[in-house]
Amino acid sequence: MENIANDSSYTFKNVLLETGFEYDGEEVVKTKTALFCIEIAGGKIKAISPNDPGRDAIDAKGRLMLPAFKDMHAHLDKNLWGLPWQAVSEKRRTVKDQIAYEQKMIPEWLKTSVKRSEQLIDFLQSKGTTYIRSHFNIDPTSGFDSLKHLEIALQNRKKTVGAELVAFPQHGVFYTNTAPLLKEVVKMNIDFIGGVDPYSLDGSIEKPMDLITQLAIDHNKGIDIHLHEIGDSGVKTIEYLINKANENPVLRGKTFVSHAFTLGHLSQIETERIAARLGEAGVGIVSSVPFGKTVMPIPTLRKHGVEVLVGNDNIIDHWITFGPGDMLQKARLIASLYGYSSEFALSRTLAYATRYVLPLDDKGNQQWPKAGDDADLVFLEASCSAEAVSRVSPVMSVVHKGNIVFS
Ligand SMILES: [Zn+2]
Repeated sequence: MENIANDSSYTFKNVLLETGFEYDGEEVVKTKTALFCIEIAGGKIKAISPNDPGRDAIDAKGRLMLPAFKDMHAHLDKNLWGLPWQAVSEKRRTVKDQIAYEQKMIPEWLKTSVKRSEQLIDFLQSKGTTYIRSHFNIDPTSGFDSLKHLEIALQNRKKTVGAELVAFPQHGVFYTNTAPLLKEVVKMNIDFIGGVDPYSLDGSIEKPMDLITQLAIDHNKGIDIHLHEIGDSGVKTIEYLINKANENPVLRGKTFVSHAFTLGHLSQIETERIAARLGEAGVGIVSSVPFGKTVMPIPTLRKHGVEVLVGNDNIIDHWITFGPGDMLQKARLIASLYGYSSEFALSRTLAYATRYVLPLDDKGNQQWPKAGDDADLVFLEASCSAEAVSRVSPVMSVVHKGNIVFS
């Protein structure tokens, strides 16, 4: 792996860090903070020392420093960013309608996709995100071009963003002739093999899922499938993956179901049963945090130790145009949906924006930053992470591997 870390050394002063909780009896009533100097070298945090306002250093102006955000479900290759405004068409009602539309439009979109992917990355970074799990289309229309274009965009932004890539057969594995492409792309520099609604698109859970899981095992990749199906086929697909992870421990911790909307439509008993099985098998759920008719059982999943990752998914494209592109907004949505309004609960909710890196542990002990941590940082106009989540505080500066993205 190419070293993209910044070789230079520099120091921030007047950096606000969380140092502990203040209690009234059992209740956390306030988050304690103090100002520090943070030394950066070789892309890492080298030292954390008491603040010295007179030091020759970059002035963080008392802003709160938090771990940079991670968007764990994006489609950087396929968006309408940079194209003229276009709302979602009412004519395209089903996934198959959208596939037909993509088959028509992808050749056109690919002409400008490198630049527009870079613009979308810039937008995500402006909201504090420096790491992205991006799906890219693999289908007979795109061939390998969606991947190639995305790789160029990521190369052009390599100093300021990290990514992991999921090969996403958006047009079905067998519904279109994508299986041969999947067998090739899995040999390339990608991290996960994806899938989409096996039963409704390919007419079988086993046929596409057998191929996807076998390719992942044979090539040492993770799995991250899109599953929008509600009802029996949705539950069966999740259980299929749980069984595969139990049979093949190599899949533990790197097998994910994105969306898994069916879990938002089960009885509490059934939800608890599947959540427990997911937790035991090390199969995670990736969510863009839907609200309305489907609300995901995120608290129940967490209770059973399921890794719940959060991402924006669509930001502006032909499926949805409402994506905030902002992980703090997603954390606030979680807080408001599940009633996490106390200082303690809000401070814990930041975890969904940072993939579980938090400044304080549950007891209020400082656990981040530590010398040796990657210098992936965001500076906010906020007094503590609870306020940042509740108010979606403005991001003032971002650092990735020691490289200052903007300040
Ligand atoms: Zn998606």
